Amino acid sequence: MANIGFIGLGNMGGPMAANLVAAGHRVVGFDLVAENCAAAAKAGVSVAASGPQAVSEAEIVVTMLPAGRHVLSVWNEVLGAARPGTLFVDCSTIDVESALEAHRIAAAAGMASLDAPVSGGVGGAQGATLTFMCGGADDAFARAKPALGAMGKKIVHCGAAGAGQSAKICNNMILGISMIGVCEAFVLAEKLGLSHQALYDVASTSSGQCWSLTTYCPVPGPVPTSPANRDYVPGFAAALMLKDLKLSQDAATASGAATPLGAHAAELYEAFEAAGFGGTDFSGIIAFLRERARA
Ligand code: NAD
Repeated sequence: MANIGFIGLGNMGGPMAANLVAAGHRVVGFDLVAENCAAAAKAGVSVAASGPQAVSEAEIVVTMLPAGRHVLSVWNEVLGAARPGTLFVDCSTIDVESALEAHRIAAAAGMASLDAPVSGGVGGAQGATLTFMCGGADDAFARAKPALGAMGKKIVHCGAAGAGQSAKICNNMILGISMIGVCEAFVLAEKLGLSHQALYDVASTSSGQCWSLTTYCPVPGPVPTSPANRDYVPGFAAALMLKDLKLSQDAATASGAATPLGAHAAELYEAFEAAGFGGTDFSGIIAFLRERARA
């Protein structure tokens, strides 16, 4: 069992740190928000007074922070306080450029590093069923795997530094586009007098089948566990989908990839957020698309 420093004990990091404790690791955590530290302490995390203090005895440091600038700021602050050779694992969803910079500053400080963003949301973090998408050297991946296994059930080594973030934003660009496609199909079906259930029964077993339809169906009824059945309480908030779509578009611009549907999905989610729905589940965009059809 490892000594683990954990910085960022929010919606995702809190339960992830708790699962590391439950698996027998010694976890020293830190967050700027006192309530988050208190909740983590209840789950058995030792709370440090600062980021540097959280990492000083660690073999592995995990960060779970909002965006690239937070990750670079925290890593710059704590790298000098860690023991040489400590493995730094960033599980936040951040832009590829910042992820590469994080690897660079870790290497310059004599540390190993891995980018390891997750999918599975807060439910996956609580249930230790996250999927980890990892980028970095083989030995860093091998060292991280047992700890990641305490927080998730699928751990994929996607390639070299940055490959985890690349996989995450490509996957979530598919998700944003496919959710809008499924919503548009239901909106069209409504106009054509076709019932939700009939469209679901056909598309879920035909070539229109996808996760946005069969797991996260954006209309109430066909999939009782989807957020549509609980007034679109997230789930996965539209603001987070917008964040990931913007990251995909930044990466597309930087790399010269053509992603016209990704760009349009980002515009639609931007308009949905601007209309006040950033806290709504991302499948709730169906109501917004219905309104556009009426306009
Ligand atoms: P969150 O805002 O709940 O948690 C982030 C935490 O980081 C906060 O508690 C904040 O106080 C802390 N923090 C910020 N700056 C800090 C600093 N300098 N030192 C210490 N703590 C600091 O966000 P979250 O939902 O836990 O998401 C974290 C990351 O995971 C994001 O990158 C997000 O995109 C990604 N993610 C979230 C979900 C989800 O469903 N919530 C799913 C997949 C990936």
